[in-house]
Amino acid sequence: MKRFCLCFPLLACTGSLSLAYAQSGAPAADPIHAWVQGSDPASLEVWVNQRLDEEKADVDKLIAVPGPRTIENTLRPYDDAVNQLALAGNNAYLLYSLADAANLRDRAQALTSKISSAGTDLGLNQKVYAALAAIPQPSDDPATRHYLERTLLEYRLAGVDKDDATRKQIRALQDKITDLALAFGRNVADGTLKVSATRAELDGLPPDFIARHTQNADGTFTLTTDQPDVKPVLNFASNAGLRQRMYLAYNSRAYPKNTQVLRDLLATRQELATLLGYPHFADLNTADTMIGSSANITRLIDQVDAVSRPVASREYAEILAFAQKRQPGITSLSQADKLYWQEQYRRARYDFDAQAVRPYFPYAEVQAGILSTAARLFHISFKPVKDAVVWDRSVEAFDVFDAAPGNAGKRLGRIYLDMHPREGKDKWFSAGPVVPGIAGRQLPEGMLICNFSGGVAGDPGLMEYAEVVTFFHEFGHLMHHILGGQGQWSAAGGFNVESDFVEAPSQMLEEMFHDPTILQSFGKHYQTGETLPTSLIAKMNDASAYGRATDLQWFLQFSTYGLQLHDRAPAGIDFDALWTADTKRFSPFTPVDGIHYAESFTHLEGYASNLYTYLLDKVIAIDFFSQFDQHDLLDGPTAMRYRRTVLEPGANKPAAELVRDFLGRPQGMDALKSWMNEEFRPPAPATK
Ligand SMILES: [Zn+2]
Repeated sequence: MKRFCLCFPLLACTGSLSLAYAQSGAPAADPIHAWVQGSDPASLEVWVNQRLDEEKADVDKLIAVPGPRTIENTLRPYDDAVNQLALAGNNAYLLYSLADAANLRDRAQALTSKISSAGTDLGLNQKVYAALAAIPQPSDDPATRHYLERTLLEYRLAGVDKDDATRKQIRALQDKITDLALAFGRNVADGTLKVSATRAELDGLPPDFIARHTQNADGTFTLTTDQPDVKPVLNFASNAGLRQRMYLAYNSRAYPKNTQVLRDLLATRQELATLLGYPHFADLNTADTMIGSSANITRLIDQVDAVSRPVASREYAEILAFAQKRQPGITSLSQADKLYWQEQYRRARYDFDAQAVRPYFPYAEVQAGILSTAARLFHISFKPVKDAVVWDRSVEAFDVFDAAPGNAGKRLGRIYLDMHPREGKDKWFSAGPVVPGIAGRQLPEGMLICNFSGGVAGDPGLMEYAEVVTFFHEFGHLMHHILGGQGQWSAAGGFNVESDFVEAPSQMLEEMFHDPTILQSFGKHYQTGETLPTSLIAKMNDASAYGRATDLQWFLQFSTYGLQLHDRAPAGIDFDALWTADTKRFSPFTPVDGIHYAESFTHLEGYASNLYTYLLDKVIAIDFFSQFDQHDLLDGPTAMRYRRTVLEPGANKPAAELVRDFLGRPQGMDALKSWMNEEFRPPAPATK
């Protein structure tokens, strides 16, 4: 199945250092780094074709094996083939996202499609499947057994073991799903609606927002349902009527255009699931995930609901009482009022301004702080590689060395930090693999693609707290890739864990950055050198802790909805009635009549029924975090145990086992409960 992640776009196959020779017979200059041998489209194409030739040679080799199938004669060449595809894909993606020259980016994009198509062919190759299925399960090597089982499962989920007619049908259904999902997304993107407002109705909105809009001849202003208008209106407009009209328009923007598209999409997914032997799409979509079945999603939703509902009710009561004090006569708050009153309440109660901490987070110090925090936590060290060949002058390379007792000084891999914006570069924040790890043959390498300010002379690059947390989150994926990429199989690294576990380790790290000791280790005022004040950290933490349960209830609501659209016959579903029922079930904020939520719910494209992923990873992340000594997050024995049991195994074990190995039990709800009740707060530092 496809895998989705909010923060890193490239996943899936991972991939050799085997016999990397060019067609001419001359050794390829660098078989794992495309950019080293020349950053022009023609060189890249030659390099990628070398990888694809290698992949094909590996596949031919494994198919041609005479006699009994073994790990060495079949699984090894298979993994080599996957390694070549991953190298090709990772490098092409890197240059597509990061190259300066537009013609190189264009060629890299075209090559990415070619590589992806080679991956699809490998995933549907019946001879390869038959060869892999004929390998006797190794009884003495659980990692290899798990790798083989998972590979065979993915083949079956692609329908490789079906007859020709059925496979043809599967291909057609998959193409149809892709087309419908694209059409669905396009209709949302193109479905901008207009909302008219009087000058008085704009009260509460920031002056620069009002200045951006021109007044019409009749004195009104025309707003749209695009993000730059919708968010400020829902957050700041004090006029309830305007908020209501904006909410209604925003949540109806692809109606009725998408009604039939969505119905067709759901019906096609259902047909695919039936062909593959599953009762409905929700069960097919969880077949290769940690949660395992749609029944388990329901169980998870009920468990989280039981702990978050009472807290969310309390949060609502606080906010309603606050609103009633401001505007006597209000008896309830609607979905359209939610963000506005949350914002007003946070401001009044916590007196925290996010801008106040920025001077304490200049980019260079933050980077140094994140490296040293990660080094202490994971028992590793970083050494800058000054002579590394990189794709842009601004990119920094670091070698990662082990610092754990018994292994100190061993090189584990390399990371590249491409951290500031430049013309033509990808605009997002992500972590991704560059080179997969294979024990004894190939060290893992990974990259960060970010767009933080700074990096140029005269600009200290002052960061918002949320950006600092994003940096550490993405860095966490990189550490998972390096530490989890020391095993024998290229496609069993940190990025290859089940799609509904992949965010848990990075979400755990986010929690660490509430800790005053950690923040104060690098948070220094860029002009005065003053340490980030404890009082400011406390206010920041209080403000961010408020509303956690309300947010979780919101995630429960749309996870439930996504599941319900995929666990029953799609023809009979009344999209609006179901959404209203789920709103009433999970939220004390009253539903807004007349909205058509499903038609513009873009997460249905990628996640489909798997919107619970955030919930599950949050539960696990908070439970993981609760195991650390809250007075000594970095230096206690827990950090090393975490590295050994959760990160180092990569995808060589089912994620549920990683969780059990670290916690001594499956994840539970107790830590989440404390976290929501704000009991779970970082202690004040011992000194200061
Ligand atoms: Zn992430």
